[in-house]
Amino acid sequence: MKIITTIGEMKAAVRVVKDREGTIGFVPTMGCLHEGHLSIVRAARQKTRVTIASIFVNPTQFGPHEDFKAYPRDLDRDAAMLEREGVDFLFHPSPGEMYFEGHRTYVEVHDLQDKLCGRSRPGHFRGVCTVVLKLFEIVRPDVAFFGQKDAQQAIILQRMVRDLDLDVRLEILPIIRESDGLAMSSRNTYLSAVERRAGLVLSRSLREAEVKIGKGERRAETVLAAMREMVGRESLARIDYIEAVDTDRLEPVLEIADGTLMAMAVYIGKIRLIDNLIVRLEK
Ligand code: AMP
Repeated sequence: MKIITTIGEMKAAVRVVKDREGTIGFVPTMGCLHEGHLSIVRAARQKTRVTIASIFVNPTQFGPHEDFKAYPRDLDRDAAMLEREGVDFLFHPSPGEMYFEGHRTYVEVHDLQDKLCGRSRPGHFRGVCTVVLKLFEIVRPDVAFFGQKDAQQAIILQRMVRDLDLDVRLEILPIIRESDGLAMSSRNTYLSAVERRAGLVLSRSLREAEVKIGKGERRAETVLAAMREMVGRESLARIDYIEAVDTDRLEPVLEIADGTLMAMAVYIGKIRLIDNLIVRLEK
């Protein structure tokens, strides 16, 4: 695996492999890798000829009071994990390399960026879209792979690709969980043992929703009320949002249907965790 830190070098390497090897699969990450990331890397390895992963803790997607500085970083460990998975290139630019002095251009996906996580993280998706578009220009992937864990991010990026006619296909991979149900996240490393246990309330309440829907309940408010009640009983938890929305406009739905996104963000102490479920109704 070749580690590349400059945009010029990455573009040059892409020019060479595009001609010689064919399809490029791209897995953008912020590092502190776990099985969730690796499952995406494996999908990329299976479906495309050349796999490029990136590790970049993107400053523009963090709010002024968020954890940009504290975000866990361990390049040596991450690089060894990616190497073991057979990744061909790791792109690891510095913030100064990606945003040179005087950077002024941003990408916004209107409306969608203000819903769900966008309400408590203003500017977050503008930062995500901007960095992903920049990375797409540098890496020129045929297929880019993302996780369902960040459901709103995946929906917004799909919209960006359609709206800007980008020549890339996105693939969204399922959420990978710990054996007890907690969705894997680099931010789980912040949780104390007690918080870690409290954090299980997210996946538990999604399972509860699934059971209710499985029994035939279709009223969104009834299912959401049960979820909110369950989370409310956990003393360390504070709800940011728990919603049932359509995956096109991220608008709340009254009636749960096949494809409805049940999405939630909950603070456990100071740590904000997200989780979600796409409803699949038996035909
Ligand atoms: P991050 O490093 O948090 O920016 O995540 C990089 C990619 O991995 C994003 O596409 C995430 O949606 C995805 N990802 C993070 N956690 C998980 C998980 N538990 N399961 C599946 N994909 C994930």
